[in-house]
Amino acid sequence: MLHIGCHLTTSKGYRKMGETALSIGADTFAFFTRNPRGGNAKAIDEKDMEALRELLEEHHFSPLVAHAPYTYNLCSEKEETREFAERSMREDLERMEYLPGNYYNFHPGAHRNQGAEKGIVFISGALNRLLTDEMQTTVLLETMAGKGTEVGRSFEEISGIISRTEKKDKIGVCLDTCHIYDGGYDLVSDPEGVLEDFDRVIGLSYLKAVHINDSKNPFASHKDRHERIGEGTIGWKAFERLINLPALKGLPFILETPNELDGYAEEIRRLRELKR
Ligand code: FE
Ligand code: FE
Ligand code: ZN
Repeated sequence: MLHIGCHLTTSKGYRKMGETALSIGADTFAFFTRNPRGGNAKAIDEKDMEALRELLEEHHFSPLVAHAPYTYNLCSEKEETREFAERSMREDLERMEYLPGNYYNFHPGAHRNQGAEKGIVFISGALNRLLTDEMQTTVLLETMAGKGTEVGRSFEEISGIISRTEKKDKIGVCLDTCHIYDGGYDLVSDPEGVLEDFDRVIGLSYLKAVHINDSKNPFASHKDRHERIGEGTIGWKAFERLINLPALKGLPFILETPNELDGYAEEIRRLRELKR
């Protein structure tokens, strides 16, 4: 069975997200832990979170993949920017403990011309302060397209962060198909080879989730513009192969395509049809 869902809004509460997911045939979903531009998180409504927990259990959801705001930059050249990101992530992770056993995905950051190596040291340093043995969330590094000075543009950079992170059982990777295709990993002609590469450089055991997006831009363009599944440069054929790869079996797939709910429902339906 394909575990699939899409990005949903928290605006009507947590339980409501679960109900919306069910209504579009999803058995996982993503949400922002707070406004995507940062800002204050809403007060915690424990009852609402518990109500979602019940729904997830009752309907056998696969793990959710919460998303950190884009504005966090753990490897900025500015100390206050790094500290803000770390402080906000700590708060987000405290919140995630109300939904134990799920994933929290973040963009590694932009090194702003300090060099990827320095970025990797900052990011893993923060992770070494944030990750604890007690926490019940796994934190996922997202593979990036390599726009500007983004860290995480290659499997090597992701591996560099993981190898410097102490609590290896609390860290994982979220593979974004649009990003890696834009980043120069050819998912269209050789998806098996890309996953072999991933296994050799990072290790498949770290792969916990997939962002399933088509791309508006050609291969290796380092641009990062998502497209609806089948309408971009990756195309249906590649996605059919991809969702059936043994290396991705059982992982939650999250759509971040430009869609409204009915569009997501349709993508979920069609992708489920293609799953063998
Ligand atoms: Fe993302
Ligand atoms: Fe993504
Ligand atoms: Zn993206």
